[in-house]
Amino acid sequence: MSATPGPDPFAKLLPLIDQYWGFRALRPMQEKAMRSVLERRDSLIVLPTGGGKSLCFQAPALMFENETTVVVSPLIALMKDQVDALRAVGYPARFINSSLTETERVETFHELKAGKVRLLYVSPERLMVPVFQEFVRSLGVKTFAIDEAHCISHWGHDFRPEYRMMSTIRQLFPEATFHGYTATATEQVREDIAAQLGLRNPELLVGNFDRPNLCYRVLPRQQMPDQVIEILKRHKGEAGIIYCIRRKDVDELALQLQTLGLKAMPYHAGLSTEQRQAAQEAFRSEKCDLIVATVAFGMGIDRSNVRFVLHAGMPKSVEHYQQEAGRAGRDGLEAECVLLFGLQDRMTWEYILKKSAEEAGVADDFLPNALLHLDEMTHYCRAGSCRHRILVEHFGQEYTTPNCRACDLCLDEIDIEPEGQTIARKILSCVARVNEGFGIGQIVAILVGDDSDKVTKYGHEKLKTYGLLREHNPGQIRDWVNQLLDQAALERTDGDYPILKLNPFSWQIMRDEKQIVLRKTLTRVRTKKSKTEETSWEGIDRDLFEQLREWRKTTAEAHSWPAFTVFGDNTLRELARVRPSNLKSMRQVQGVGDAKLQMYGEDVLQIITGYCAENSVTMDELAGVASHNPAVARVSPSIIAEYYPHFRRGAAIEAVKQATGRSTSTVVKYLLSYIRDERPKSVDIWVPSDVQAMVFQSAKRLGTTLLRPIFEDLGEQVPYDAIRIALAWKG
Ligand code: ADP
Ligand code: ZN
Repeated sequence: MSATPGPDPFAKLLPLIDQYWGFRALRPMQEKAMRSVLERRDSLIVLPTGGGKSLCFQAPALMFENETTVVVSPLIALMKDQVDALRAVGYPARFINSSLTETERVETFHELKAGKVRLLYVSPERLMVPVFQEFVRSLGVKTFAIDEAHCISHWGHDFRPEYRMMSTIRQLFPEATFHGYTATATEQVREDIAAQLGLRNPELLVGNFDRPNLCYRVLPRQQMPDQVIEILKRHKGEAGIIYCIRRKDVDELALQLQTLGLKAMPYHAGLSTEQRQAAQEAFRSEKCDLIVATVAFGMGIDRSNVRFVLHAGMPKSVEHYQQEAGRAGRDGLEAECVLLFGLQDRMTWEYILKKSAEEAGVADDFLPNALLHLDEMTHYCRAGSCRHRILVEHFGQEYTTPNCRACDLCLDEIDIEPEGQTIARKILSCVARVNEGFGIGQIVAILVGDDSDKVTKYGHEKLKTYGLLREHNPGQIRDWVNQLLDQAALERTDGDYPILKLNPFSWQIMRDEKQIVLRKTLTRVRTKKSKTEETSWEGIDRDLFEQLREWRKTTAEAHSWPAFTVFGDNTLRELARVRPSNLKSMRQVQGVGDAKLQMYGEDVLQIITGYCAENSVTMDELAGVASHNPAVARVSPSIIAEYYPHFRRGAAIEAVKQATGRSTSTVVKYLLSYIRDERPKSVDIWVPSDVQAMVFQSAKRLGTTLLRPIFEDLGEQVPYDAIRIALAWKG
């Protein structure tokens, strides 16, 4: 008999989530998604990659005692990782697939029969086997979770024929509820999933598709591989994926990087199965941090600490871009997505798509759609407005943040040419003067005032536009012409000698009826810190973090587990920030549940206490305030004399910074001790009272004084320092 959940089963679920996973707050949509499972109502959950879909079916399954929830998952390789990760937190999960030995299989069946397994992962093929269906029925399965549910739809980017047969399962288990999970947000795919799975009055939950921790950048591709290397320099020791359009680009770039001593592994469909598996395995286990790949690489990748995804060429659709770039920063920490874009990318894709459509004999219905996708992608590359906005709007959602602080445009990284409009008019007039009969080389030559044969043989030195852009160099002018082409203010004929042509938009610009923006040519990226980067390392001891990472690597290797099964990067960072001095305060860290505390607690404690003693670093910064450890030194009298008078006067942080010449973090640090020492009547001058109230409410609701959960709970809108100050005052 299955346990009937009480009046609000959800109230019982939260402590379980804390116990197993060490999470004290849920992400948006997770609660509703879990409720639909508990209330036994079909559902379709659409959340972006990293949105936390797995927890939505893993957690409620714990509430159904003696019951097993079946998870359908398309990739055998991933199944094992997921089950390993669950077992690492003490969760009774199993999988059944061809990789099990006979003994393992018998054992698994036995445990299932005994009602000990809460979650069973299987492939869709397995579920189609009648004997297995009978077995599932004998277990009395009432809940099916379909992961990567878009695989059921041929409208999706990852259609798998085996998924199609899932609709028969619904008929075989009419009493069970079905729950689909996907990151593919298009309406068409969504409806198709619901129809194919035969969902009945499903709860449809579509999360916010923005990924605020990803910083998007698009750059013209100029020098390869130099541009790639420049980006890699920003990510030393971090994990990343570089996507190329063609296999030969992958091989070439991987080789170039290897020659430079970088451990980059290639991945594409032209390699042998063994080679591909080796690359995937090396990346998964963090033995290799850099993969150069075609689109073939990805589905099997569950690594959550990918810090950058670099596209060395344009992807073939915005969906693909969202999917590929989305593999960065699944842990919610800062990550960068750069796209290097060349005009020829579109043509390369057109060629590839036409060829493959012809080979498959589907050119008629396939091509126009594919070309449309290319146009949309090109539009993203050329865009002059927020990239987060374009991506979110593409998926039919509204984006209301005026400045994302996480894209090249909003961060003001791109220099605009102030004379852009005038320059554009000069270039376009020149095209008009030569009667739209010449290519880019000739136009540039005329505009710079070249007096060689090339110009004089046509009498072009007599044109009114001759030498009009004399003060600029030819490379710069050529780039502007390309920008005009990019923005469809100019056209270019096909063929070996493309000719520049005008269109109505060109004429509107020439008559100043329409404005156009030209960028200065970028030779080097001038990157600024994104919103997430500004706060994500706050208070974290990086050396300690690196030590913990080393420990994680050895631990994972010893068990041949993927590193994330031990602890995710976010948990390691939080450990390096809180620096717990005992098991109790370690348990407060997000991601440290009971099982992990027991398994790793002592080891981690030893590293942290050793490190802190050696480097005289404070410990137990549970709320950013060192108060729990008596060993922590109090503020010295000279500090009190220097800082406290400012605080007593109610001086703003900025003013104290000016007066003392110290950094914000130093000033805040002493402000916190001032608040604790002297307990001022109010701290409104540093944190508005309504913000304080929000922080207190959140701390109460979550039952924690840890910064990160509160920060997330408040929609990442309240800065860490404000949370610290409010909590210090509250005591
Ligand atoms: P998805 O399947 O939607 O791509 P995952 O289920 O892999 O996302 O979750 C992404 C990451 O977020 C994982 O590291 C997971 O442990 C973490 N996570 C999920 N829910 C929470 C939560 N409520 N609090 C903290 N971390 C969470
Ligand atoms: Zn933006």
